[in-house]
Amino acid sequence: MNGLGDLYQEMILEHYKSPRNFGVLESADHVAHGDNPLCGDKIAVTVKMKGDRIEDIKFKGSGCAISTASASLMTEAVKGKTKGEAESLYEKFHPMVMGTGSAEGVGKLEVFSGVHEFPIRVKCATLAWHTLRAALEGNKEPVSTE
Ligand code: ZN
Repeated sequence: MNGLGDLYQEMILEHYKSPRNFGVLESADHVAHGDNPLCGDKIAVTVKMKGDRIEDIKFKGSGCAISTASASLMTEAVKGKTKGEAESLYEKFHPMVMGTGSAEGVGKLEVFSGVHEFPIRVKCATLAWHTLRAALEGNKEPVSTE
C-alpha cells in the first residue's frame, strides 16, 4: 500500500484490526451479500431502517485490509443517515476511488483517495458500498464485483 500515505495507511490498518459495527444485526430488515472474487473479499451487510433512515447497520465478512476498513468506515459514515444521504455520499466516494473525482465532502472516507492508484484495489474499496445499495434496494441476489 505504498503511496496511500502514512496517516491513511495507519487508519486503514486500524479499522482492519478492529472494525466498527462488526457482526450481524439480529433485528435487520435489509440484508445483502457481496463478493469480490478478484481478491477473495466477502461481506454481508445488515441494516435496520426507521422510515427512510438507517437506524443501525452492521457488516460481517472476511477480506483484505482495504475491503474491511472500507466496510467499517462506511457503517460509521451512513449510520443515522437517510437512504438519500447515504446515496449522495456514495456518489462522491465512488468517483474519488476511481480517480475521477475529488475527496470533497467525503469526510473520513478520504483515507481511500489514494486507492485509484491501485486499480486492483478499487473493487475492494467499493464492495461494501455496492452491497449496502443492494440491501437498501431490497436486492435478493448476491452482489458480485465481477
Ligand atoms: Zn480486497
